[in-house]
Amino acid sequence: MKSRTREEERRLAAFFRGEIARLATRPVRLMEVCGTHTVAIFKAGIRQLLPPEVELVSGPGCPVCVTPNEYLDTAVAYSRQQGVIITTFGDMLRVPGSSSSLAAEQATGADIRIVYSPLDSLAIAAANPAKKVIFLAVGFETTAPTAAATVLAAEQAGLTNFYVLSAHKLVPPALRALLTAGEVQVDGLLLPGHVSAIIGEEPYRFLAREYGVPAVITGFEPLDILGAVYLLVKRIAAGEAALDNEYRRVVPPAGNPAAVAVLDKVYGEADAAWRGIGVIPASGLAVKAAYRRFDALAALPVTVEETKDHPGCRCGEVLRGVARPADCPLFGAACTPERPVGSCMVSVEGTCAAWYKYGAGRWQV
Ligand code: SF4
Repeated sequence: MKSRTREEERRLAAFFRGEIARLATRPVRLMEVCGTHTVAIFKAGIRQLLPPEVELVSGPGCPVCVTPNEYLDTAVAYSRQQGVIITTFGDMLRVPGSSSSLAAEQATGADIRIVYSPLDSLAIAAANPAKKVIFLAVGFETTAPTAAATVLAAEQAGLTNFYVLSAHKLVPPALRALLTAGEVQVDGLLLPGHVSAIIGEEPYRFLAREYGVPAVITGFEPLDILGAVYLLVKRIAAGEAALDNEYRRVVPPAGNPAAVAVLDKVYGEADAAWRGIGVIPASGLAVKAAYRRFDALAALPVTVEETKDHPGCRCGEVLRGVARPADCPLFGAACTPERPVGSCMVSVEGTCAAWYKYGAGRWQV
């Protein structure tokens, strides 16, 4: 695809801004579901480009943020066992559990290693045959196929000391739960491009059909996001509810059937607990019976402490879109990226972290 010149980008951005201002004749609230969108919106200063009638609110689309304390407590409990190596993406390290974190356990001697792909865990397992290697499988539809492919690769390699502790989650059931609860009034949804590249358009059709909410699949460039806001405001002004795919250059309507097939081979849908939302039916992924020997919870006994949430932290409300980070009394005072109290301040995709780092916004037309 031919890339646009800077001047063409400026003209398009000005067109989107002008049309959004013209069409937004009443207050509308749009939810960016995805944490990557939240960060892109703040980095680019998109909020400052929109008229006061258009409010952007963040949703539950940061996988680290929505992982509940119980999962972290389980990971901490495994990390304290003799002969266990925990492998994880870096974001999980500093997320506080009920009474500890993986970083704190690492500091006292637990063998916890940061990986950049689940497949890295297999090399660690092969090099440490006397140890049990547990990969913390956290993420949405975007990363789950790679975790599934890793289980298949472990089977093919004959590894008997590799396990996953699964907290994979699915985006469409969370959207259904939010809209059903009706706690936050949402007039339109910005849908994550990378998740959609896997699942395609079909799983989102219910948003317009059952809830009358327009939605746009979009990418992460400032113009993608501004264009998606324009499409939503246009739909709302016309009284239409439909699904639009603004990100066709990356998201085919049918998604990625090969990735979905790998996912379906290893994982099946299961009820899952989301921080701040609770258990959502069929919103998670559990390892299927045929691969249960790779499922840490099924294969390795563990005793987990009683789970507690941090008093004062309002991550749950932030993740449901009913509170802003600044509504939390700890924001920027007791809770900062250097000393996070809640998950939304730890993750690079967390709403509180984005508010703290990029509050002013920088990108201008
Ligand atoms: S500011 Fe910190 S404590 Fe408050 S909601 Fe955000 S992450 Fe939780």
